[in-house]
Amino acid sequence: MNTDLKHQGDPLKDASRVVVKIGSSLLIDKDNGELNRDWLESLAGELAAMIGRGQQVMLVSSGAIALGRAYLNMESGNLRLDEYQAAAASGQIMLAHAYQELMGKHGIKVAQVLLTPDDTENRRRYLNARSTLETLLERGVLPVVNENDTVATQEIRYGDNDRLAARVAEMVSAECLVLLSDVDGFYDADPTTQSDASLIPVIREITPELAKLAGASRTAYGSGGMATKLAAARICMLAGTSTLIANGHTSAPLGAVADGGPCTWFLPSRTPLAARKQWIAGTLTPGGSLVIDTGAETALRKGGSLLPVGVREVDGSFERGDAVLIVSAEGQNIAHGLVAYDSDEARLIMGARSQEIENRIGYQGGDEIVHRDNLVLLDK
Ligand code: GLU
Repeated sequence: MNTDLKHQGDPLKDASRVVVKIGSSLLIDKDNGELNRDWLESLAGELAAMIGRGQQVMLVSSGAIALGRAYLNMESGNLRLDEYQAAAASGQIMLAHAYQELMGKHGIKVAQVLLTPDDTENRRRYLNARSTLETLLERGVLPVVNENDTVATQEIRYGDNDRLAARVAEMVSAECLVLLSDVDGFYDADPTTQSDASLIPVIREITPELAKLAGASRTAYGSGGMATKLAAARICMLAGTSTLIANGHTSAPLGAVADGGPCTWFLPSRTPLAARKQWIAGTLTPGGSLVIDTGAETALRKGGSLLPVGVREVDGSFERGDAVLIVSAEGQNIAHGLVAYDSDEARLIMGARSQEIENRIGYQGGDEIVHRDNLVLLDK
């Protein structure tokens, strides 16, 4: 383990939820455009061991375009957008097969999740994507995530999987994001031009100087570059997620980091839950309100979720995923939360037991009208 981290444990081993992102250069053999199977097998073993230890793991895998273009015999050089998208369509299915087979050897099931920026930025879709990932993780499944390259257009896409992985980590409140690529970490100068450049083991704040360094070293670091890694680390810092940048060009790269291999950690000052609650409390303008009874108020103050049975009145008009104000029977504003049902549905299920939700609105969207992770008390 990195000596600078000794006093605070091992952020990777201690994390209950981890997102691991692997870049195309690790996955694909440059000479023939095929999968580096030996490497992938060793990584699959490491991921399985993490899941075996009880950690929830998500994989963000690049490589669909590179694999697909070789498979479809597309010439080298720049492709048209539709050709990239066709390559991704073929390559993604190959990736999915490989992960299913390799993780299956360890008894781990996989699931494919293809996202567009709308899924992480639009609050309604965000809640859906989050619950789907939660359901998979609770079942010990390894979600394999990539951008939905076949539908994402040039203007509306993440474009790089570093940022996509950071958004996923933020969305599921992961404690740790691991970016495996072909660099050892973050240097205090460009190591390709300055022989005295040294690796920075721990970064606790992204200063303008660091941002300048990342910009300058963009070409030296290849496709995604340090700039997108820094952008990812910045998203994670705000979300309370630690980011690890390490070189994946070794077998068992996660073990290498644990054994003290070179890497850079970006460490935030707060936990994902604290960051999420601050975001809910501070930045959202409530679109409506839910008046609750005293039993529900007591449950909320003890850290519980808000169930439909405790709601007496629904005011205003809101969508699923919007922020709402939660008001006590005496008219006091007591909490902010992201609501799991829209205002029409909320009116139909208020006062109902959770088992009755489906009868009233035709589907069961979850027992809670506001889940405790999406709720923050105002006087705390
Ligand atoms: N989504 C792209 C692919 O699977 C990769 C993007 C990236 O490498 O950052 O091919």
